[in-house]
Order: sequence, then C-alpha cells, then structure tokens
Amino acid sequence: MSFVAAGLAMLLLLWLATLLAFAVPLVARWREPVLKCPVLIIESDDWGAGPLRQADLLGRLAALLQRIRDRTGRPAAMTLGVVLAVPDGARIAASGCSAYHELSLADGRFEGVRAAMQAGMQAGVFAPQLHGQCHYWPPALMAAARGDAGVRAWLGAAEPAMTEELPSPLQSRWIDASRLPSRALDAATIGQAVAAEAAAYGSLFGAPPRVAVATTFVWNEVVERAWAEAGVEVVVTPGRRATCRNAAGQPDGIDATMLSGSRSGAGQTYLVRDAYFEPSLGHGAQRLADSLTARTRQGRACLAETHRFNFLRAEAASLAALEAALQGALTACPGLRFLFPLELAHALRTRDPAWVETRLRPRLAAWCARLDEIPRFARAARLTGLALPLGWLGRAA
Ligand SMILES: [Zn+2]
Repeated sequence: MSFVAAGLAMLLLLWLATLLAFAVPLVARWREPVLKCPVLIIESDDWGAGPLRQADLLGRLAALLQRIRDRTGRPAAMTLGVVLAVPDGARIAASGCSAYHELSLADGRFEGVRAAMQAGMQAGVFAPQLHGQCHYWPPALMAAARGDAGVRAWLGAAEPAMTEELPSPLQSRWIDASRLPSRALDAATIGQAVAAEAAAYGSLFGAPPRVAVATTFVWNEVVERAWAEAGVEVVVTPGRRATCRNAAGQPDGIDATMLSGSRSGAGQTYLVRDAYFEPSLGHGAQRLADSLTARTRQGRACLAETHRFNFLRAEAASLAALEAALQGALTACPGLRFLFPLELAHALRTRDPAWVETRLRPRLAAWCARLDEIPRFARAARLTGLALPLGWLGRAA
C-alpha cells in the first residue's frame, strides 16, 4: 500500500514540476479573458490610396456585409486597414526616379474611394484602422529602386499602384529593407512619421486613429510608443512582434509574444489576429467556420485576416466566398456576434461582464482548450500523463 502511495506521490510531484516548468504561459492563458459568446471580425487590409476600382468594390462589400446579421440584428463587421498614400508615378518618373512624390488619399481622384469608405462606416459595417501613411518606407523604396528595374518601373507607373506587387520585404513600413537583413530606423524618424500619418488620418476620418496594424506585421516598441502618443489604444498583432527582415527577407527578430487583452509597454491593448480567410488562395467557408469554432472553444474572438487583393483580382468569386463564409459562420455558431476591434478591446480591458466570463467552469474549459498551443507543453503533458487529468478537466468543465 505504501508502495502505491509513494508512486502516486511521485506522479503528483512530476505533474507539479511540469506545471511549474510552464507556469508563465499557463498563467498567462488563465488570466486572458474568456469571452461568453462567439465573436467574428473580418480584418481586411490595404484599402485606401491605390486603384480607383476600390470605390465600387467597397460599395459592393458594404452591401454584402449589411445582408448578414447576427442574432441581435447587427450587420457583419469588417475593418479597413487604411493606407494613406501611394507613389505619384508621373512626378517620380519626371524626376528620373531621383525624388519621391506621393499621391494622398485626400487627392480629388480618390473621392469615390473615400465616399465608399464613409458610407460603409455610416452603415456600421466598416471600421477604419491605421495601416500606414504608405505600405513601405519611402527612402528604402527609393534606395531599392536604384538597383532594381522592377521597383523603378513600379514607382513611376502612371496609374495608382498596387503595393501588393512590391517585393514583400519592401512592404514593411517600419524598417529599411532596401538591403537584407533590414536595418532599424531611428526613434526620432519613426516618431515624426507616426505623428504625421496620424494627423493625416485624423483629417481624413475626423478623428485620430485608435487602432493600428503594422504593414506585414513588422514593427517594434518605438513604433508602439509613437502610436500611443498619437492616440492609438489598440494594436492588432499576429500574437508575436517581428522587428526586422532577416537575410532571406522573412519577418524575424521576434522580441515579444502577446495574447488578446494583454498590454503593450506603452499601455495599449493587444488583439491577436490569427485566422486567415483569403478566398483567392482557395480558403472557403468551412475554413472560416472551423477557425471560429476553435477560437470559440478557447473563449476567444476570431479575427480573420483578409486582403484587398482577393477582391481586386477575383472580385465576383471572392465576394461570393465571403458571403458564403459569413453565412457558414452563423450556421456553425448561431450565437455569433459581430464586433469591431475597439469594442472588443474595451470589453477585454474592462472585463465587461456583458462579454467576459466570470464563472469558473467555462473559464476552466477555455483554459484547457488553450493549452495545446504552448510550445512543447502538449508533448510534456502526454509524456508525464498530465494530459489525462487535464483532458478530464476540459471535458468536465
Ligand atoms: Zn498590408
């Protein structure tokens, strides 16, 4: 009997040691708020200065979103990650590609695009958020153009350009990726650039940006501090902060990881966008329903990333796929609610009891559903047998 008792004690000690070894991520996932109901936000980037076809497209998107309603009657919510300028190709070409000139979203030729954004905002289906003055760092682009005929041609194009066509590293705004690995920009330069773009955003939308999402998800603490000074309260992330591009051009230099509801050093609320819905890459309704169901089990909102390019390259098919996916999401989770990031962040930050769970059992179930994502934890739990009581706990709760 004492042999059995000693064995049990050893096992309990082993489990305790395993839990302690992973204490930081386990506690973080316990402290992360648990939502009471499924929440879906379509996070759509790259709109604004660029092809004029966006005006009609945004109108059709807004009409589509208004047809899809959650159980409270609220229409589907889509964020517009806004880019405020593209190159002024004619002027750059006239300078022999020696001087950078930009074409602002405030320019008269973009009036239709601005009106379509405003109409969608008034209808409650669009929420703009700051993506950047432009989808690149202009001095880096000019430097790259000196050795790259493709970039030179792109900069001097007569029609407002699609930034999606630039080499990926050059699409990162907050680094100098004219050579790889990229180099950091100095803090004062970043501060001035953020202040200028926040002011430009404010004059276009009537108020400074409150939500920001870095282009290509490459940014750093200096950018966050500058955003905070400009009024940005919410930072949309993929769950980690990449600060540079490595020699292969990939995002790298990860110096922080985050969960939705956690705070940046500058005090902003982080949100995690980690679902993907790109119809032109073959993502269908089932994929969005699966993403939503998985995050609902974890007590999290589903922030699904999509991009303008889907709709510019394959408009009819992408619109149809989006509508089917939103309908599929409502079928998969009938209690689904549509919300904008600012509202979600506020609910998480204040632990609003209308949205955030306080009961122990649902919190335990959500916590158990979050554990598999912790690197190496699932394996350790399997090897030590800890997975058995945790699995039981998840089912019982
Ligand atoms: Zn983008």
